[in-house]
Amino acid sequence: MYFVGVTGGIGSGKSTAAQRLAAHGCAVLDIDGVAREVVEPGEPALEELVARFGRDILLPDGALDRPRLAAIVFQDDDARRDLDRITHPRVAARVAERVQALVQDHSGPDPQLIVIDHPLLVETGQEVWFQAVVVVEADIESRVRRLVEGRGMPEEDARARLKVQSSDEERRAVATHIIDNNGDLASLHAQVDEVYADLLARAEAAAAG
Ligand code: ATP
Repeated sequence: MYFVGVTGGIGSGKSTAAQRLAAHGCAVLDIDGVAREVVEPGEPALEELVARFGRDILLPDGALDRPRLAAIVFQDDDARRDLDRITHPRVAARVAERVQALVQDHSGPDPQLIVIDHPLLVETGQEVWFQAVVVVEADIESRVRRLVEGRGMPEEDARARLKVQSSDEERRAVATHIIDNNGDLASLHAQVDEVYADLLARAEAAAAG
């Protein structure tokens, strides 16, 4: 098993890079997806969030109103800490379960590369868990454009989210590989392919001891 973290700022292209690694046969776990799962209706974390923030954070169908909760914690550090305290241990536990299942069910070639697509890998100091950290970078204007055009996010929201994240310099400090995603998709894919070849070589060297 060889653990690879893929991270980068919002809209940098990390999920696109992780998908390309999946196409090479890597097992990919998307932390954002797990974070969404642990607050689905019926999950204990959602009940705790309602106890802390009130029923106003729910949509009429009982699902979490994510923009509403985001607006609350954006303004209030205590609220953000409470959100993190309620959700982070559940996300960590579920990720551990998923990783265990991936390892148990593994039937492909060795070494098995497990890629974790983690937007806040650096912010949460989790680089220590990974043998390699791939940082995807793109300048602010490309990221804003992709989020607005590709995802329909209002420009103001995109800029506000970019502002509160770690800088590329902080990410670069823990990176083993850096991908420049200011070009087109073909350029991104070509770089990911090179990174994959290197990751495989590193994983093989690590497995050989
Ligand atoms: P988030 O943090 O919001 O999850 P992300 O870093 O995972 O974002 P992606 O979802 O991979 O970013 O990419 C954001 C958008 O930009 C997507 O619509 C994706 O298809 C597009 N995109 C990514 N890289 C490129 C590129 N090189 N050229 C054009 N579009 C791109």
